[in-house]
Amino acid sequence: MLAVGAHPDDVEFHCGGTLLLYRLGGHDVTVCVATNGDKGSKRIPPGELAAIRQGEAREAAARLGAELIWLGFEDGALQEGLAERMAFIEAVRKARPDVVLAHDPDDYHPDHRASARLVRDALFLATVPHVHTESPALESTPSLYWMDTGAAAFQPTDYVDVTDVYAEKEELLALHRSQWEWISDHSGVEIAEPMRVTNRFRGMACGVRYAEAFRREWLAAGGSAVRLLP
Ligand SMILES: [Zn+2]
Repeated sequence: MLAVGAHPDDVEFHCGGTLLLYRLGGHDVTVCVATNGDKGSKRIPPGELAAIRQGEAREAAARLGAELIWLGFEDGALQEGLAERMAFIEAVRKARPDVVLAHDPDDYHPDHRASARLVRDALFLATVPHVHTESPALESTPSLYWMDTGAAAFQPTDYVDVTDVYAEKEELLALHRSQWEWISDHSGVEIAEPMRVTNRFRGMACGVRYAEAFRREWLAAGGSAVRLLP
C-alpha cells in the first residue's frame, strides 16, 4: 500500500495507526512525501530545515518498516505542473499499491489539496503504458481513500480501529522533533493534541477508543469492490 503526504509529518498524523496495522498484517508500506517541509519553522532557515525534516521522515519510515519516496518539492508551493504529475505517477508505479491513502481534496492546506489532485490524476495515468516514467505501468488502478481532514465537514465512509497501536502512533509523530516547537509556536497546541482529539472523536463515532477515518473515492475506472483497509 501507499500513503502520500504533502509534508514530512502528514502521513504519521493522518494515517499512522492504519500504516502500523498494515505492517502488523505483513503488508508492504510505502510512504511518499511530496514537499521538503522547509517552511515548518519560525527559527530554522529553510535550507537547513529541509535536511532536518528529510532525516526525521527517514527515521519515522524506518521505525514503521516502510519504504520512503521523497519528492522534495518546495513547501507551500506545490503546483499541478507536468514535473509534479510525472513524479507522482512514478511514485505510484514504484510502490505498486493495491490501495492508496491521500489528503482529501478539500483539506485546509493548499499543498494538501494540490497533492490530492495530483494523486487522483496519477492513479489513472500510472496504468497508461505510453505515459513513460522509470518504472513500468500498473496493470490496474489502486483503490483510493482520502484521509481525515479533522474538519466538521469531513464525512467518513470508513473507520479503522487504531486503539491497540495508538501509543505507537504518537511515538511515530514525535520523531518529527523539528515540529514540536513549530506546532506550538504556530497553532498554540502540543504536537499530538489535534491528532489525539480527532482520533478519539472518530473512535466515539464507531465505538472504539481511537479511530482513523477515511472517505472512499470511487474512481470511474478501477479500484477494488472490497474494503482494503485494516
Ligand atoms: Zn501537511
